[in-house]
Amino acid sequence: MNYEEVRALRKAFNSVKERQGVNQLKDFHERSKRLVSSRELCVGNEELLEKAVSNLRKNGIKVYLAKEKQEALDIILNEIGQEKLVVKSKSNVTKELELTKFLEKKGLTVVETDIGDRILQVMNAKPSHPTGPVTHLSAKEIAKGISKYYGLPIKETPEDIVKIVKDDIVSSLNKAKIGITGANAITVEEGSILITHNEGNIHEVMRKEKHIIVTSIDKLYPDIESAINMLKILSFNATGSIIPSFVNVITGVPKTADVEKKFIKGVHNPSETILVLIDNKRREFVEKGFKELLYCIGCGNCLLHCPMYNTIGNEYAIDSYLGGKGLAYHSIYSGEPDEKLELCLGCGKCKDNCPLELDVPGMITKLRSRGVSSDIYFFLKSHIVWAYYQMLLRSGKK
Ligand code: SF4
Repeated sequence: MNYEEVRALRKAFNSVKERQGVNQLKDFHERSKRLVSSRELCVGNEELLEKAVSNLRKNGIKVYLAKEKQEALDIILNEIGQEKLVVKSKSNVTKELELTKFLEKKGLTVVETDIGDRILQVMNAKPSHPTGPVTHLSAKEIAKGISKYYGLPIKETPEDIVKIVKDDIVSSLNKAKIGITGANAITVEEGSILITHNEGNIHEVMRKEKHIIVTSIDKLYPDIESAINMLKILSFNATGSIIPSFVNVITGVPKTADVEKKFIKGVHNPSETILVLIDNKRREFVEKGFKELLYCIGCGNCLLHCPMYNTIGNEYAIDSYLGGKGLAYHSIYSGEPDEKLELCLGCGKCKDNCPLELDVPGMITKLRSRGVSSDIYFFLKSHIVWAYYQMLLRSGKK
C-alpha cells in the first residue's frame, strides 16, 4: 500500500466534501426520492426497455442488445470494421467488458481521451474514483510516470501535465474515424441517450464518422427530466458542482429535410450512431435479489465517506470495482465472494451518504456471512486491519 497515494486521495476527497458544503444542491432530499422512484420503476423493467429500444430505433439509432460480454465485444469489433485507431471516453461499462484489452489484442490502438483515463492508460495504473480516476496520484508521481512514456522530462505541475497529455489526445482525435463513449442514461419516453462530461472530450469523440455508444440495460430512466435529475445528483456527489459542464442529449443522427423536404441523413458527423446495450449478468442480479445494486449511479460518494477506503485506498477494490459497493458487485458478478469483502467495517457510512441509501453493508453481510461466528470474526478482522493501517498512516510510515 502506498501512503502517499492515500494521503493524496484523502486531500482530493476533502476538497469535494468542502465544495459540497459550499454549493449545496437545492432540494437534495426531494431529488433523491425522485431518483429512487425512477430507478425502482426502470431497473429490470423489460417492458420499458423494449419501449426505449423501439423509440431509439425510430430516432435512427442502430441498437444492439448483447446478452454476454463476448457478444458485445464482437459487435463492437464488427462495427469498427477495418479501422485501426479508436478514440474513446470514460466508461465503466467498457472497463467491465475489458474492451481496450480486447481491441488491442486484435491489433487496434485505443486512446482514452479523458485526461485522467489517458494518464492511467499511459502509466498502466489502477483507478481510485469512478469520475476522478487519478485522484490518488500527485502531480509529482504522474510527471514521473508519464515522462518515461512520452520520452521527455515533464514538470511536476498540473498545468504542464495536462498540456502534454492533451496534445497527445488531440493528435489521436484528429486521426481517428471511430469514437466510442459510454452513456449515463437512456430515456424511455424520448428514446434519448444522455452523456455527461466536464472536459469537453466527448464532443470530439462523438463527432467522429461513427459513434459507438456502449452502455448497460440498467441505465434506463422514464424521461429526460428524470435523467437530468440523476445527472445533477451525480455531478454534485462526484465533484461538488451542481451540474456538469456539458450534457449531450442524442436523439437521432445528423439529418436535414431543408431541400424539398427530402430527408437526407449524415449531413455532419457522425454518419452513424450505434448503441450497444449490454446485459452481462444484470438480469441475474435481479433474479438473485440484488436488483438494488443496479440502482447505483456511480457517483462515488460512498468512497468519500468509507473509513476503510480512506485508509487503504484502492487496495480496497478490484480493478475498477471500487470500495464496498464495487466489491459486492464484483462478487455477485464472478459468482464468488471476494476475500476483500472481509474488510468491510459494517459502519453504514456508505449507506448514509448514498443518494439512493443503498444498503451495501447489508449486501456484504449477506454475501460473506457463514453464520454468527463468521460475522464476529469479520467484524474483528476488519476493525483490527483498519486500526493498524490508521496507525501507520498517522505515524507517516510508508
Ligand atoms: S453506491 Fe450510492 S454513493 Fe456509492 S457510487 Fe453508487 S449511488 Fe453513489
